[in-house]
Amino acid sequence: MHDVKDGAVARPSTLSRRTFLKTAGVVGAAAVLPMNAGSVGAAGRPEELATVLDISQCIGCGACVEACREINGHKHPKPEKPFPEMFPKRVQAEDWTERRFTDDRLTPFNWLYIQTAAGEWNGKPFELHIPRRCLHCQNPPCANLCPWGAALRQADGIVRINEKICLGGGKCRDVCPWEIPQRQTGVGLYLDLMPRIAGNGVMYKCDRCYQRVAQGHEPACIEVCPMHIQHIGPRSEMLELARKLAADMDGYVYGAEENGGANTFYVSPVPFDVLNATLQTGPGRPHLKPVQDVMAKAENLTWALVAAPLAGIAAGLLTGARAMAQKESGHE
Ligand code: SF4
Ligand code: SF4
Ligand code: SF4
Repeated sequence: MHDVKDGAVARPSTLSRRTFLKTAGVVGAAAVLPMNAGSVGAAGRPEELATVLDISQCIGCGACVEACREINGHKHPKPEKPFPEMFPKRVQAEDWTERRFTDDRLTPFNWLYIQTAAGEWNGKPFELHIPRRCLHCQNPPCANLCPWGAALRQADGIVRINEKICLGGGKCRDVCPWEIPQRQTGVGLYLDLMPRIAGNGVMYKCDRCYQRVAQGHEPACIEVCPMHIQHIGPRSEMLELARKLAADMDGYVYGAEENGGANTFYVSPVPFDVLNATLQTGPGRPHLKPVQDVMAKAENLTWALVAAPLAGIAAGLLTGARAMAQKESGHE
């Protein structure tokens, strides 16, 4: 998937990714989450989970991308065709079914991809691989501003989208500073409910393997990584680890302050603005720029006040409506 330049560590090319996953045990038994269960934060509540990614160690092998697809494939969209007419008509259908194996950007079928930054820093060439996915923000605008309550933040800090409630309007993508969630048309509640009136699919993104985490296992991408570049644990410990790794390499941390603080910390020996300047960014390919706290903006705070009660009511109505629609169509 990604070229490895001379001098970089070679990927385990003799193993197919599938074989590699099996060897690493991700497809079968899962490793136990190495964290302090029940760790309590300053406010007396259980601490959020955070991850640290030391990108100086990533070889760009893509095993994490494959593991994510393998483990989460059952959650990927299964759209019905032909799609209903879009409303309003100017809204474009977003269909990834023919491109479901695309792995050089985020899509509804690809919740993680490897971005490569190559350039020169301090007079020396660099090539760094950066696994990109949702950063699981502490105060996530995607969840706070979703009018239907479909995007949600769990107490453990995992931010995910409930595909049973999402109408695919894409507010989450509009307000995410990295435009992470990706839409697939022709799937979800809007088909049962009001295809001619609202919605156009479901939004998808990394859910931090929340079912595995709930069972005490590591997310698949962390467990399979041959270089062990990722760590997961209570936020305070992960932030300390990120700062230590950065200090040891005279490097930099991204994610501690971005968007008011994320639960993903990237550690790099090259400044992030230098990395960002070399990246190919755009739809599905997030940047690495500094990010102000989206929820600190007055208009977003006001909208959040409106959206929160609306989301509660809407979620109840929509779930009821879906159950009714399924009953009518004979699907229980
Ligand atoms: S994070 Fe690990 S598994 Fe993923 S590309 Fe980098 S080295 Fe490979
Ligand atoms: S990175 Fe974007 S999608 Fe992920 S939690 Fe933050 S705002 Fe939401
Ligand atoms: S945490 Fe899970 S869902 Fe998120 S990128 Fe890793 S494997 Fe995919």
